[in-house]
Parts: sequence; C-alpha cells; structure tokens
Amino acid sequence: MALLQLRGVGRTFSGAVEVTALDGVTLDIEAGEFFAIMGPSGGGKSTLLNTIGLLDHPTTGTYTIAGDDIGGSTSRRLAETRSETFGFVFQGFHLLDHRPVRDSVELGLLYRAVPADRRRILADRALEQVGLDGLGDQLAAKLSGGQRQRVAIARALAAGTPVVVADEPTGNLDSENGASVVETLLALRDEGTTVVLVTHDPTVARAADRVAHLRDGRIESVATNEVAVASALGTGGPADATVVTEPTRASSAPRSTGEGGAGHRPERPGRPSRLRFRDLADDAVRSVTSRLGKTAGLVVAVAVAVALAVASLGLSVSAGAQVGDTFDLHTNRDVGVSWDSPVDPTAEGEAPGAIGAGAVVAPFGSPEAAADVAGRLARVAELSGVESVGALHERGSAVVRATAVRDALQAPVVSIEGSLLAAARVDVEWLARHGPTLGDREVLIGRSLAAQLPLGPLAAAPVITLGDAEVAVVGIVDESPRVPSLVGAVTTGAHSLPGVETPSQTSVLIRTGAGAAQQVARQAPLAIDPVAAETFRVDAPIDPTTLRAEIESDVESTLLAFTGVALLAAVAGLGNSMVLAVLERRKEFGLRRALGARPSHIAGLVLAESVVIGALGGLLGLALGLGAVLVMTVARQWIPVFDLRLAPAALIGGVIVGAAGGLVAAWRASRIEPHEALRL
Ligand code: ADP
Ligand code: MG
Repeated sequence: MALLQLRGVGRTFSGAVEVTALDGVTLDIEAGEFFAIMGPSGGGKSTLLNTIGLLDHPTTGTYTIAGDDIGGSTSRRLAETRSETFGFVFQGFHLLDHRPVRDSVELGLLYRAVPADRRRILADRALEQVGLDGLGDQLAAKLSGGQRQRVAIARALAAGTPVVVADEPTGNLDSENGASVVETLLALRDEGTTVVLVTHDPTVARAADRVAHLRDGRIESVATNEVAVASALGTGGPADATVVTEPTRASSAPRSTGEGGAGHRPERPGRPSRLRFRDLADDAVRSVTSRLGKTAGLVVAVAVAVALAVASLGLSVSAGAQVGDTFDLHTNRDVGVSWDSPVDPTAEGEAPGAIGAGAVVAPFGSPEAAADVAGRLARVAELSGVESVGALHERGSAVVRATAVRDALQAPVVSIEGSLLAAARVDVEWLARHGPTLGDREVLIGRSLAAQLPLGPLAAAPVITLGDAEVAVVGIVDESPRVPSLVGAVTTGAHSLPGVETPSQTSVLIRTGAGAAQQVARQAPLAIDPVAAETFRVDAPIDPTTLRAEIESDVESTLLAFTGVALLAAVAGLGNSMVLAVLERRKEFGLRRALGARPSHIAGLVLAESVVIGALGGLLGLALGLGAVLVMTVARQWIPVFDLRLAPAALIGGVIVGAAGGLVAAWRASRIEPHEALRL
C-alpha cells in the first residue's frame, strides 16, 4: 500500500468568493520516492502539498497515511502525526533569523521534547549532512539564500521524519544554489526519505522519480520524470504522458540505503508534538533577547510602570517614616493629668492626702497644699522619660486694672507651679534681670491682655491691681502653644491672693522625651496619687504608631491609585504591542505549527515571552524606582527607607503585567492557521 493515499480530495476556501483549490485529487505516493508536483500558478499545488503535510484539511475525500485515515483526527492527533511524519521546506526559508543557525535546525526537535544536548548533536549532524558543518553558531540572517535553504533542509533532516515536503524550495535561489538544494534532497531520498516537492523549475522536476501535473485543482497527469518534464517544458503534451500509478525507479541517482522497510528513516528521536517546559522557557528567553531591539520598547514600558509603582511605594514608606519622625519630634510628647480641685477650702476635710473631685486637702496657698503639689510634681519628675513637669491651676477670673484712670477688666487668672513654663513651652518676655520664676505678688500678663489694658512698656516695671492686691508685672507671655489661654490671662505663682478665687481645677502638664509619652501617661496618675489615680483625666497624644499607620495608609492609598493606573496602562500597551508582534511573526508561528507545535504550545511561547519581557521590565523598573526614591529622598534630606519586600514584589508585578499583557496575543497566536500563515 502506498505511504500517502489521497482519494477524491477536494479543498474549497470559503470567503467573499468561494475558491475550489483542489477538486477530486486522487494520488498515491510511495515510501521512498521523490515526487514532484508542477503546474501553473494558482493551480492548487501549495494547497495539495499542505493537505499532504497535514497543514490544511480537505473539505471532501479521504487521506490516509500508512493506512491510517486521518479524517476524523483531533487537532492534537494531527499535530502528532505531522510531527511524526513530515518535515517541511518552504520557498521562504522561515528561519529564526536573529538566532544561531542551530536554533532553527533544532526547532522540530524542540517540539518532540528531545533533550538539549541530544538536540545539539542531531542538529550538528544534520548541518554536516547539508554541507554546512561548523555554521551552527552563526546568526541565520548572515547566511546566503542557498545556505539558508540548506539549513531548512537540515531542520527537516534532524527531526528524522520519513517524509520531506518542499514547496518551491528553489524558488528564491539562483540556479547554482538551486542545484545544490536539489542535490541535498536527492541525497535525502537516497537515504530512504520520501520527498514531495512542488516546483516550477523543469530542471528540478527532472530529478524526481515521478511528476504530477496540476491545473485548476485537478491532476492532469502523473508521469515518470522524462515524460513529465517534457510536458512541463511544452515539448510534449499531457496526452503523451504515461500515467503510472507505480513509481518507476528511473532516476539516474541510484539509492544507497533505505530500500528496506517502508522508507522510514531509522532515527526519529523524541515523542511527537511534545514540548518540555524548560525548553519553552528557554526558547522564550532566547526569542526575547534575540530581538532585543524590538522588545526593548516593551521592556521599558513595563519598567516605567513598575518604576512608578516602586517609587510610589518606596516614597510612601520614606514619607511615612518622615511624617512619623516629625510627629514624634514635636507633637506627641505632651502628657497632661488634671483633676478638680477642692471646691471649698474652708469645708471639713476628709483624711489628709485623699484627693479627687470634692475632696479637700488644704487651703490653696497654705504650706501643706504647696508641699502636697510640689511632692506630686517631684514624683512625676522622677518617672523615666519625663523632661519637665509643672502644675497649672485655674482660678476663675478676677478684676484687673492697669492704672486708676482706666476701666477695670475682668480677666482669667491662672497659677503655675514647678516647671510649668517649660512643660507647656510658654514663651515669656521677662523683665530685664528678672529670673524665670514668679515670686509673691509677681505676675505675668498675656500679650493680648496687656494690649487691652493697656499696660505700657514692660521695662517700666508696671504695677497693676489684681483683685484686691497690687502685683508687679515681671513678664509678658508672647506665645503659649499648649495652653493658648495664657496669652489672654494673668499668670500668678501658687500663692493665695485677696480677691482671687482658689483653684477650681488643677492640671499637671508633662513634657516627655520622644516616644515616652504613652508610658508616662500610664504612670503619671499613679505617681501623683495611687489611691485617686482613676479619678484623674489623662491627656495623652494618640498612640504614635496608630497615627503613623493612618498617615502612611493615606499616603499609600493615593500613590497606589496612581500605580494601579500606571500598571493598567502598561498592560494595555504591552498587550497591544504583543498582538502587533504576533501578527508580524505569523510565519514563524505557522512554521512552528508545521514542525509539530500545538496551538497550546504557541500560546505558551507567546505568554512566556510576554512574561520574560514583564520580568525584565520588573527588574529594570525596580532599579529605576529605587533610584528615583533615592534621588527624591536625598533631595529632601529625608532618610531613604527601602522596603526589602519591594524587590520580589516588583518582579512579581512585572511578571503579572507581562502575563496579562500577553493573554490576547497568545490567544491570537494560537489561532494562526499554518497553511494560511505560510502562504507567500
Ligand atoms: P499554487 O500553489 O499552485 O499557486 P495555491 O494552492 O496556492 O496554488 O492556490 C490555489 C487556489 O486557492 C488559488 O486560487 C488561491 O487563491 C486559493 N487559496 C489558497 N489558499 C487559500 C486560502 N488560505 N484562502 C483562500 N484562498 C486560498
Ligand atoms: Mg504555491
């Protein structure tokens, strides 16, 4: 039985106009023969060859290979049979131009899951067979046309398929190179390979065992070579052709091997239509790096997005740290503890030492009360982390008068004890040569109250009336950020003054070292009075870590939004460019399919390439982003904070962008039909 049997095979292309490319072709091709197909352009030669090579499917008729009807085969089975049976040589050589010659030769073996070292051996042997030994490492693009076509033949050879299908392999070559290609094909035939070839060239056809003549999709004749060639040259006619069904071995080139068996070459390494993951990844990396000029733009697109992401995240961490530090330095070191002072100092007291709402200790200004407050402040001052501590007593309001002629004003009065001015960061302009403490009958006047009175120059050591007493003004309160009311009040020492209320409320203000506020806030009430600690009101800053986290998350979410947009733009850009790249490489994907790749292998390759681009972009973006963070933080004299998690995140981000960007292109590539892609 013939190796390849076509029975009434028809192929119709539907479209705007329906084209019948093949019309009832019945043909037997024997194992081991050199079979040529000739005929006018558009006659259906390529369609017939593609059908034979399983790159195209007949719309009618049956086709059997070594007795197997391939009619009902799944596309996977077809890919396997194709990979198992056929090697292809095309008019346009379809090499991986920017990669070493060896890569092109190995391609068929790649889709047979042959291990790399074995691929290399087989490829080098095949190159030797076509007379290109030693050229394996050359870039394919550097070879001459004839050499390129011999590389294509070597590719068919290396896979060891029993049939080589060649569509006008000499069409792009001068006669000398054409002759050497024909010689190579003859040598193949002599080793037992079945060669099916389409040609316009009578001298090429002359080498064939038999020649079929195809016109308008129909076989006009199948003849032994002399007759067929004569007919093709117009020196005879189809009518003179001896139509034979059995091949005659009339070729001048006698066979050396391959007479036995079904003409199958002995060595067919690997398994058909299989691809190892490692090879896929390796192929993708080589594919991307071999076209670095074209892929650099894509890598940069991803890199910019990732850099933006890295810079955003990096800056937000640095900025957050900076905000937190600033916050630590200034605002979160103030702790206050306050309580209501004894309402009526003359009422009967409870046990001495008890303090709290309504409790009575000792009359304000008395030595006992003074000792009590001073003792409390001393205990607080001993707590670790306390820098300064003082007490502030609210004493309602009192009548203030600057001079006898002016109207009296009602102004708030407070008393201070300990290092209150330091603890509350009060800025006082003191009378020259006056120490920073208040003696008996000495007061400070707030700047705005001084203006209202009006007080006159401080240097004149003004004396005012406060309640029923004359007091000396020894300083002006310019600023009091923590207790702003001091700017509009009279501040006295802890003495009782006639006509001024005793305190209704007392606050202990504490200034702590950085980071100590929380701890001091917990300990201060106990230090003041362990028994009444729970009745005190404690003012502590928000836990800085909470505040910091809030600020950081605010900054971060804004920057993340930008980042998201940048990444989406990268996905869209990459996706678009990958689709364009796939369209540009249709022939390559068609060829890979011809060599046994399944649609999923093609999709995998495109996706893997996209991921490689994404990963490269991710790494480049990481470097750019960290550089940007460094420049920006240094410019602002911040301390750059690098989050180590950014490195893997950038890589993974790049990979995800790559994968997402490659999805559509991968799908498009997998749908490329080899017979359409490879049409010239
Ligand atoms: P040849 O190789 O002999 O020049 P082809 O087999 O390429 O001829 O083409 C035979 C006919 O089928 C032509 O009319 C061609 O336009 C048509 N044809 C071939 N392939 C396709 C296709 N994929 N889609 C539509 N028409 C096609
Ligand atoms: Mg053609």
